[in-house]
Amino acid sequence: MDESSAQQKAKIENRHQAFIERQNHCPLCGTQLEIRVESYLEDYTLREEAHCPDCDVLARVKDHKMH
Ligand SMILES: [Zn+2]
Repeated sequence: MDESSAQQKAKIENRHQAFIERQNHCPLCGTQLEIRVESYLEDYTLREEAHCPDCDVLARVKDHKMH
């Protein structure tokens, strides 16, 4: 393992992006969700929020710890 931490981080983000693209429809009405991902780099957490513009609800909020 001689990858830099920056490359590791990019890999993690790519995997995360692919993951949320598979689950981006509202479970209630099937509308495409608006996904927002915020990073809190100071404690290595990603927060993923999926909002349905039709139902006007937050369908999903997830925190991902990255270590
Ligand atoms: Zn909906």
